[in-house]
Amino acid sequence: MLRVAFQSLKNHLRTILRYGKSENFSTQFTEIPKETADCVVIGAGVVGIAIARELAFKGRDVLVIEAASTFGTGTSSRNSEVIHAGIYYPPKSLKAILCVRGRELLYKYCADRGVPHKQIGKLIVATSCTEISKLEHLLKRGTENGVEGLRMMDDFEAMQMEPELQCIKALLSPCSGIVDSHSLMLSLIGEAEQYRATFSYNTTVIGGHVEEKRIYLHISESKELEKCIPNSPLRPQLLLIPKLVVNSTGLSAISLAKRLHGLHNGVIPPSYYARGCYFTLSKTKIPPFRHLIYPIPEDGGLGVHVTLDMDGHVKYGPDVEWITDIDEISSFLHKYDYTVNADRVKGFYPEIRRYYPNLKDGSLEPGYAGIRSKISGPGQPPMDFVIQGEDIHGVPGLVNLFGIESPGLTSSMAIAEYIASKFSR
Ligand SMILES: Cc1cc2nc3c(=O)[nH]c(=O)nc-3n(C[C@H](O)[C@H](O)[C@H](O)COP(=O)(O)OP(=O)(O)OC[C@H]3O[C@@H](n4cnc5c(N)ncnc54)[C@H](O)[C@@H]3O)c2cc1C
Repeated sequence: MLRVAFQSLKNHLRTILRYGKSENFSTQFTEIPKETADCVVIGAGVVGIAIARELAFKGRDVLVIEAASTFGTGTSSRNSEVIHAGIYYPPKSLKAILCVRGRELLYKYCADRGVPHKQIGKLIVATSCTEISKLEHLLKRGTENGVEGLRMMDDFEAMQMEPELQCIKALLSPCSGIVDSHSLMLSLIGEAEQYRATFSYNTTVIGGHVEEKRIYLHISESKELEKCIPNSPLRPQLLLIPKLVVNSTGLSAISLAKRLHGLHNGVIPPSYYARGCYFTLSKTKIPPFRHLIYPIPEDGGLGVHVTLDMDGHVKYGPDVEWITDIDEISSFLHKYDYTVNADRVKGFYPEIRRYYPNLKDGSLEPGYAGIRSKISGPGQPPMDFVIQGEDIHGVPGLVNLFGIESPGLTSSMAIAEYIASKFSR
């Protein structure tokens, strides 16, 4: 019903005007139609979809607003598709807790619903003596985080398990795996819709304001936004007044939060973007490895690792390239530069040959790229996921998700569970 009302309002309003100078929104938007809603989830990536499904399952009336023409076109379809065990993150952090819980939920969900996945296990490898202490630190951390089955292996045992591997020690993580992220999202959406959640594509939240302790979302059709020039003021076509809003817009979550008038800027973290490119292994019919192979983590990422997809194709990546100058409109419309610069392959060969010395010259081809949504910059320690409710920012009914980088895919169902239990009672 809400979808019908929303569509008819959208159809009636096509004029893009401009914000005036005053911030008195109640007088400024008198002629713009208003609609109330129960829960609005902004963003149909894997996290937003999982949240929508969980809230709808709990009996809430959920509308998902997505700027793109379909679900999962953002980071959720541009990642390694690895089900992480939960090794890397500081104990008791949200990343540690939600990754471990999310992995359990994800394996069970995929097994029950027939979503393609494989628990193929992973080796994190030390290729020099200086890396051994880092590997031992990871073993300790993973164990504290509750990751099952972690075990240190010497070079002989690891290389027996993976004959193409070269290392001096390895940490085996048997519960790591891979998942077909598209099938996962499709399945979660199907269930969300069964529980009566509604998805409105081609629709962008361009900002919002708080009035009498209620949040007003400013909504525009994405195609109208396409016509705007970067950094120009925007005028909504619809004001949506939900009881609960979850800002799950991934890379643009911080830009959107900055456009929510009434939300104190001091609670919004800085945003950084780190592109990661993948190269695929060509001319090889048999994959060189059966497990995921990861080096010791680097600044900004987990290191150029070996990943297999569900069809057995091998990819290497992602590397780390910090990028800047992303304007708000491009970010809402997901217009990022995903070009894989073929020159970056030069950095891949030496990285990969540290653990796979038989990698042949000319065997890597440009694959795809993803962009990490970060809240700490180059050289700074990684930050935890940030999930902010009224207790932090004081705006009733608003939940912001910031810095949902890896392991966001693995954690998606646990993030959803967390949000439903903490913010929807
Ligand atoms: C290179 C790379 C590798 C990774 N590898 C892994 C991995 O192996 N395992 C793992 O667990 N995690 C991994 N991750 C992390 C994981 O991919 C992300 O945490 C996860 O996909 C985030 O999902 P999301 O739903 O928050 O964001 P997204 O998938 O980006 O979805 C956000 C959605 O919001 C929409 N949107 C944006 N602005 C607006 C607006 N204003 N109005 C309406 N809609 C809007 C976008 O169009 C988009 O569809 C990786 C990430 C990267 C970058």
